Amino acid sequence: MDVQERIQKLRKLIELNSYKYYVEDNPELEDYEYDKLFCELKELEEKNPSLVTPDSPTQRVGGISEKFEQVAHSTRLYSLDNSNGAQELKLWYHRVLKDVGETSQTQLSLLESNYQDIELVSELKIDGLAVSLTYKNGVFIQGLTRGDGVIGEDITNNLKTIKAIPLKLFDNVDIEVRGEIYMPKSSFDKLNEEQIKNNQKTFANPRNAASGSIRQLDPKISAKRDLSIFIYGAIIDKKYNIKTHSEAMDFCKKLGFKVNKYKKCSSIKEVIEFCSSMEEYRKTLDYATDGVVVKVNSIAKQEELGFTARAPKWATAFKFPPEEVWSTINDVEFSVGRTGIITPVAIITPVSLSGSIVARASMYNFDEIKRLNISLFDEVLIKKAAEIIPKVVRARKTSNSKKLTLPKVCPSCNTPLVEADGEVAIYCPNKEGCPAQIKGRIEYFASKQAMDIDNFGQNLVDKLVDRGYIKEISDIYKLTPQILMQIELIKDKASNNIIEGIEQSKNTTLSRFINALGIKFVGKESSDILAQNYKTIDELIDARYEDLASISGIGEKMAGSVVQYFSNQKNLDIIKELLELGVKITNKYNGIVDLRLKNQSFVITGTLDNLSREQARARLKELGAKTPNSVSKNTTFVVVGANPGSKAKKAQELGIKILSEEELLKILEGEKNE
Ligand code: NAD
Repeated sequence: MDVQERIQKLRKLIELNSYKYYVEDNPELEDYEYDKLFCELKELEEKNPSLVTPDSPTQRVGGISEKFEQVAHSTRLYSLDNSNGAQELKLWYHRVLKDVGETSQTQLSLLESNYQDIELVSELKIDGLAVSLTYKNGVFIQGLTRGDGVIGEDITNNLKTIKAIPLKLFDNVDIEVRGEIYMPKSSFDKLNEEQIKNNQKTFANPRNAASGSIRQLDPKISAKRDLSIFIYGAIIDKKYNIKTHSEAMDFCKKLGFKVNKYKKCSSIKEVIEFCSSMEEYRKTLDYATDGVVVKVNSIAKQEELGFTARAPKWATAFKFPPEEVWSTINDVEFSVGRTGIITPVAIITPVSLSGSIVARASMYNFDEIKRLNISLFDEVLIKKAAEIIPKVVRARKTSNSKKLTLPKVCPSCNTPLVEADGEVAIYCPNKEGCPAQIKGRIEYFASKQAMDIDNFGQNLVDKLVDRGYIKEISDIYKLTPQILMQIELIKDKASNNIIEGIEQSKNTTLSRFINALGIKFVGKESSDILAQNYKTIDELIDARYEDLASISGIGEKMAGSVVQYFSNQKNLDIIKELLELGVKITNKYNGIVDLRLKNQSFVITGTLDNLSREQARARLKELGAKTPNSVSKNTTFVVVGANPGSKAKKAQELGIKILSEEELLKILEGEKNE
């Protein structure tokens, strides 16, 4: 195929998929696959400039549907050019310096240092859909999608249902702002659950869900979907004398718009540092981001730099590496967990995902295999979930696909598998004799977050269990250097180190000890809560179901599991044996349990400067407070950080006391509140 033919083929493919993505909100390709086609076309056109045509996708943005009234934008809306990686960011900055830099010293090598010339602003790139909002005299009058950048779709009525879009500003100004409509990740998950329940198609990602929800002909449907917005640009009358992008954003914030945090950077090095710090941080956010947008701060310089056919030259999008990637499923392993639950794990052709090589991915349970219709040798889409363990999220058939047979007996001990009551899990009921479960329990008991036994990893546990030296957790404390030395590769010194680790673990806390027992549904955090509420292990053993279930953060399911665990004589015997073998439990909360915020409930909205929302919640919970997600009449305080959501408004309406971050910190530090 010659270049011209390839270019034409690429254009057709890109146009078709753009239509599916922008107009139908129903993409068939993964973004990275689309980006690959787009990049190839761009490169071919760069090498063959005579073949560039004005209607090429490289010269245009987006797409428009006929569903809505089409309205011309007052000023064009552009896309963004990408910078993949630090080197491309430097090259972009280099071009900016060459075009509008104040010095002639713009060698690339200078960019390695804290070279300061043109101020930049870095902000998160929200993965949603662009809209422009027009206000006259402070009143919202029209909202358009980006469309093809020149013409947008009029979705004013739908936009009015979004609470984060002010219908009236704090000042009677004429202004046009641009921003990104998005659906919070939590709402996206809920929406897809609903879609599955109602036998409707699920959305591929929060971006498509947001776009599909806001581009509904019936605003009532949009109103039901939880959508929000971040404003990232504005056209402001010259009379306000706004000189920089950051000033413009501060101006918008003062008018009542929701503006995300930005960082002023005085060198490209600082930008790169910001981008890498965001890679992990963004995973803690409830909205999807796909990169960092870097902009020249000075508006005069932006004007000087101008635009290409589809993007500003004064901005670039640093794209995060993909969090999803396709691979092939070569085998399935059915792993038996410490509580007997069978988890199917896909063994895949190793692929690089978010900076690490992934060769295994979880498929959760048998139901998920059926739901996703996964077969052996399928192509599978792997995603890094918030829980870090990669999971399979989609499968597509290949000519080699082969039906997957699900096991009927435990792969570790051959016991017939059973279904857990009221759970989707399939499990092996042979608690006491199943080697995989014994190994899992022992490993968990010795792990960092439990008894924290040094040098006691999976390899050693496997050998000790396989040779019959360990059947129960208490057997760990019966090990001697002589026993250990019977295991290959363990020499005198190593065995002494292991014994030393075991000895040291004997002094432990109640919270660790509870966690180490591996009671079903009870993890690290709940063990901590139990240790705050019961002084000793004996008190916990005697705890009544009703009391346990009434503890904030425990609940009925966990309470039932705790009571069941301690009603089993075998478990009580093991605990007794552990204590006889020298395990000493102290309770760090004993007598000094600080539950001074018990019966109080804190809702946090907006971004805090000194700690993340999760950290603030964790600290409040430690002090006995509840930290629900939404404001109700039972809320005691609403803590308002930067860019608060609608919760702050609701608190005002309900007359609930609002706390600043500073006031929250004082409460956490122990100062009395009203
Ligand atoms: P883009 O989404 O990569 O970048 C431009 C957009 O970023 C702007 O229009 C704006 O809406 C948004 N943005 C978010 N935060 C911003 C901020 N802080 N400042 C400025 N802008 C901000 O470009 P695009 O042209 O909208 O779309 C391209 C993307 O769409 C690519 O990621 C591509 O993979 C995807 N796509 C996928 C398919 C498919 O078939 N899967 C088809 C078409 C496009």
